[in-house]
Amino acid sequence: MLHDLNGGPLAAPGRFDVCVIGAGPAGITLAMDLAKKNKRVALCEAGAFELTQLSQDNYKGAWVGDPYLELDAIRLRYFGGTSGHWTGYCRPLDEIDFLRKDRINPDAHWPIERRDLDPYLADACAVVQVKPPPASRVIAPELGLQEDFFSFSRPPVRFGDKYRKPIVASKTITLLLNANLVGVEAKDGRITSCIFQSYNQKNQSIVADKYVFAMGGIENSRQLLWHAARSPGNICSPEAPLGRYWMDHPHYTIGGALVSFKAPAARRFFGLTPQKQMQLGVLNCGLRLEPASQDHTQRMIKELVCVAPALGEWAASLAHRSMNCGIRIRAAWEAAPVFDNRVALSPSRKDRFGIPAPTLYWRHAPLDLKTLRATALQFNAWLTSRKLGRLRLEPWVLGRGGYPSQDELGGPHLMGGTRMADNPREGVVDRNCQVFGSKNLFMAGSSVFSSSGHSNPTLTILQLALRLSDHLTA
Ligand SMILES: Cc1cc2nc3c(=O)[nH]c(=O)nc-3n(C[C@H](O)[C@H](O)[C@H](O)COP(=O)(O)OP(=O)(O)OC[C@H]3O[C@@H](n4cnc5c(N)ncnc54)[C@H](O)[C@@H]3O)c2cc1C
Repeated sequence: MLHDLNGGPLAAPGRFDVCVIGAGPAGITLAMDLAKKNKRVALCEAGAFELTQLSQDNYKGAWVGDPYLELDAIRLRYFGGTSGHWTGYCRPLDEIDFLRKDRINPDAHWPIERRDLDPYLADACAVVQVKPPPASRVIAPELGLQEDFFSFSRPPVRFGDKYRKPIVASKTITLLLNANLVGVEAKDGRITSCIFQSYNQKNQSIVADKYVFAMGGIENSRQLLWHAARSPGNICSPEAPLGRYWMDHPHYTIGGALVSFKAPAARRFFGLTPQKQMQLGVLNCGLRLEPASQDHTQRMIKELVCVAPALGEWAASLAHRSMNCGIRIRAAWEAAPVFDNRVALSPSRKDRFGIPAPTLYWRHAPLDLKTLRATALQFNAWLTSRKLGRLRLEPWVLGRGGYPSQDELGGPHLMGGTRMADNPREGVVDRNCQVFGSKNLFMAGSSVFSSSGHSNPTLTILQLALRLSDHLTA
């Protein structure tokens, strides 16, 4: 059933089993799976079916620290959420991403393991209409180098388009549009109702047994920070590192290479084996190879001719045979989870509902560069040992100068802030995504990620949503 809150509140909403707040990939997947189990769901979405400036303006915010992206440009606040402009890369996290590696970073691990999410992989893939990608393949055991594979949702599933009809037709889902979460009533550690407001100031109170925040990787923290501060000790444990350990996958072009093979397909990346990551004391990273422009290729050959004439001749002969020998190398990697990287509430700026805007604190850690450099150097060792080519890294990768400010910068993959842990000193939600200190509040989405691996996050978000659905109905 569909209801637009701009037209006034529901006449007799009754009591719901679950109130899911936010209709992006996480909220839609969760609501549809709960509906399959015959649960009565209120799916409350801040936007409408079409994007409006009125809604999008509430995503404005600021960042402090390393260059980052505008917070209202990297998220979409309408039905379907940011899937309205995702690219469709899909890959689950690796086993190593979940494991403890205290010597490398004491926080880069989850309280659960990959096998806890594996049972949900096939269904998560079905949601975005992909097949699970093939397993990684070691290509140079002595160097610890492997190929990682992605699947592509092609064209990328736009959740708003694909799932609008079944949700509106559902007998057990009530979809509320233009319903912005503005208030949370709680008593004795239990939420008793959530209050939503439309753009023309119509209010709706929703009463449910359980509530799930699925508002995305910044809003989940922002909203929880705001409501927890207004009802101390009732919504979230005061000990919990709320908003902390926020992460993105840094994305940069790190250089180019002249190679004797064609740039591999976009769904094939290069990375280090888990053993090599442990041995070198680094986190997970994926190198993405793309054909370089002819200009770029020519420039690399000229440079090589100057510094190493014999190699330059080899490269020139490659280029003579095929202009495909130049490749551009982009990297996306696992940022170290850092306590000081966080979502906080702005002291001065508020959205139209009076809720403080987010301020994002984001700085690269020394481990980030170490991870990137180690992976790039092993890749170079593979190229040279197999006589496959030569790598040219940007000087900043080798420690000469800071990160470039004009680049992709991030995924944008908004992760952490309500991280999963086994206790409220280390995290905000437990293994079942239940907020520490609350009897009936849960989180869906990448805000619960404890560490990020190098895989794009949406497939894992969907696995977690399906797992949460099982837990809520167990
Ligand atoms: C350019 C780009 C490319 C990307 N490419 C990829 C990719 O290739 N692969 C990949 O895995 N990921 C990719 N991503 C990331 C992907 O889009 C996100 O992981 C995914 O959308 C997160 O889903 P979500 O449901 O958790 O959050 P969102 O998609 O952000 O949805 C949150 C929902 O909550 C609603 N909401 C917010 N505030 C409120 C409120 N106060 N009250 C009620 N509702 C509210 C919003 O309107 C929205 O519908 C990309 C992202 C971008 C920006």
